[in-house]
Amino acid sequence: MQSIKQNLQAVRWQIANLLPNCEQDQQTVTLLAVSKQQSVRAITEALEADQTAFAENYVQEAINKIDYFANTRWAKKIEWHFIGPLQANKSRLVAEHFDWLQTLDRPRIAQRLNQQRPDSLPPLNVLIQINISREMQKSGILPEQVDELADVITSLPRLRLRGLMAIPEQHPHPEQRTLLFEQMQQIFCRLKQRYPRLDTLSLGMSEDMPEAIISGSTMVRIGTAIFGRRGRSAN
Ligand SMILES: *Cc1c(COP(=O)(O)O)cnc(C)c1O
Repeated sequence: MQSIKQNLQAVRWQIANLLPNCEQDQQTVTLLAVSKQQSVRAITEALEADQTAFAENYVQEAINKIDYFANTRWAKKIEWHFIGPLQANKSRLVAEHFDWLQTLDRPRIAQRLNQQRPDSLPPLNVLIQINISREMQKSGILPEQVDELADVITSLPRLRLRGLMAIPEQHPHPEQRTLLFEQMQQIFCRLKQRYPRLDTLSLGMSEDMPEAIISGSTMVRIGTAIFGRRGRSAN
């Protein structure tokens, strides 16, 4: 079996080879390690291989890990992203512990986070989650609602809108996935005309990373390809 370090090197190599390398307006891609259901040992191994941005889906599980690493030499370097669905009653925990929230989809949660973000921390970086496949009962707003939510978020001083994220339906055909990624890129470009400082389009997981990068993703969220299958070890 490959080590986490080897997996990280392979993913980084794959990303580098997908980027156009002679363009003026160079696309950069941030690699986010999705560490849900992975142990602090696995995270430490990734940190030792220079991975510093991690993403979690479950608030309490994440906070246990965040507290653990706050007492290690990694405390200042590590960056935590919340990528799970967020209930209103958990918003304070996210506001107090995370650097990024990628699944913002309601004005009410935005307002709560703005009130709850401690003054001792920089503004919380947020992404609006788009339900790009228009699936019923799926988190995220519809594409046509994005301007309205962006206006709310940008009026709140303790939040910093960075861009958009989506989890498209898993089509077996790469062409279908690419179509949805390209729609996301269009929505992102249009929003960026109104808010030029937006810099993040969070798209792509282990299964569909190449298509996402080719369609303009600037942040990929990779779990399995770095850590192996989930659910084998709990701390
Ligand atoms: C679990 C998860 C990922 C990572 O999925 P892999 O297929 O393991 O790479 C990415 N994004 C979100 C929102 C997730 O929940």
